Amino acid sequence: MKTIFQKSNGAEGIGFNYDKNNDLTCIPKEIIRENSIGLPQMSELEVMRHYKELSDRNFCIEKGFYPLGSCTMKYNPKVNELLSSLEGFCNLHPLQDDNDSQGALELMYKLQESLKYLTGIDGITLQPAAGAHGELTGMMIIKKYFEDIGETNRTKVIVPDSAHGTNPASAKMCGFDIVEVKSNERGQVDINSLKELIDENVAAIMMTNPNTLGIFEEKVLEISKIMHDNGSLLYYDGANFNAIMGWTNPKLMGFDVVHLNLHKTFSTPHGGGGPGAGPVCVTEKLKKYLPVPVIKYDGTKYFRDYSSEKSIGKVRGFYGNFGVLVRAYAYLLMMKNNLKLASADAVLNANYIKEKLKGVYDLPYDEPCMHEFVLSGEKQHHQGVNTLGIAKRLMDSNYHPPTVYFPLIVHEAIMIEPTESESKEVLDGFINTMLKIAKEIEENPEEVLKSPQTTPIKKVDETLAARKPDLTYKE
Ligand SMILES: *Cc1c(COP(=O)(O)O)cnc(C)c1O
Repeated sequence: MKTIFQKSNGAEGIGFNYDKNNDLTCIPKEIIRENSIGLPQMSELEVMRHYKELSDRNFCIEKGFYPLGSCTMKYNPKVNELLSSLEGFCNLHPLQDDNDSQGALELMYKLQESLKYLTGIDGITLQPAAGAHGELTGMMIIKKYFEDIGETNRTKVIVPDSAHGTNPASAKMCGFDIVEVKSNERGQVDINSLKELIDENVAAIMMTNPNTLGIFEEKVLEISKIMHDNGSLLYYDGANFNAIMGWTNPKLMGFDVVHLNLHKTFSTPHGGGGPGAGPVCVTEKLKKYLPVPVIKYDGTKYFRDYSSEKSIGKVRGFYGNFGVLVRAYAYLLMMKNNLKLASADAVLNANYIKEKLKGVYDLPYDEPCMHEFVLSGEKQHHQGVNTLGIAKRLMDSNYHPPTVYFPLIVHEAIMIEPTESESKEVLDGFINTMLKIAKEIEENPEEVLKSPQTTPIKKVDETLAARKPDLTYKE
């Protein structure tokens, strides 16, 4: 059935020539295409070159420093890839029964045990496919809990003004009303403002600690007491877990529900949006609401338990992004006690860059930071180049730009997270480039505004690119 198509310029590609009456009998006649759709005809070599060129345009952690705040772009050891592609793991069908899936179930169970140990919280599901999905799952559990105990009046969820946008979005998707609590001058939840918001209708507070400014919420125990005294729960956004592994945990801070981002803290490639894994841990009284199945062990055999009657149900097809779970478990086995060291190095690296850049760039919250910190490009903005311009200039030096314009409470925000993976030489190179850019802006902002010049696509009209993306092939 194979035929060779020819383009007008003579290039040849492989096509399939169907006999409509015989080959396509299973397809309804009215949806069978009459004419060719005019796909480009290329040889295999040309196709390979096309995709290779596309991949060369991509920036990745293997290509350069990627200090994207809030995203923990650490090095992903290649052995994780090897292990996740072992035949027994990647060819296993999710519908195979427990007896045939003991290895996979054991891995999931042991990963659960490790994450329970690290968070201090002992009910867990690995199902959610991302951090935001974990938030949604956690908030569904909180909602179900209050329904179950007859407190359906609890319709409000408090979210700090520094929170990641997914927090209010997830709570809202569960039907909660969002109430924002202000940060104080030290970049932490303002206790007095919080107290004013407390009433019998508050279901929970969602917090990130360290928060998105990279600052540890010192009053977290007081906040936990205020919330629990009010009968409310505390949700922990664990996207910043890389700062605290082994040093403290959400249980000690008084949280009831926690999600972790395995693709961030536990090393899975996640640029470009996935795949991810956002396991959720819950305290004892919330365990019965966890999604089914729960992966369990009875002393001889691992199994999937669907018996929980009060479960919120399934939140995803099958059992989560299994390949990500394998990578995370491999990483944990390799790191063992060194996880604590990884967090320490992540914090040290962030503080090192912060100290070298502050003064030249504004540092609105001048506090010791955790694994990341937030500068403001306000001064440079007044000199003629805004934060976006700084980000583009960095690209010309082969750096992935830091996160910009987030968190929203910092004007011209530049959020830098180096992670533990980088050497002092890399950090110094980045620091020197940032200092050089500040100097260039002082002396010749016009020149800086010409960046990026070394990227495959040069300067774009951001608004047009976002509003009217041109994604179609045109012959
Ligand atoms: C990344 C992140 C999230 C969302 O996680 P995804 O896996 O991207 O859905 C939530 N909160 C914070 C603080 C984050 O950094």
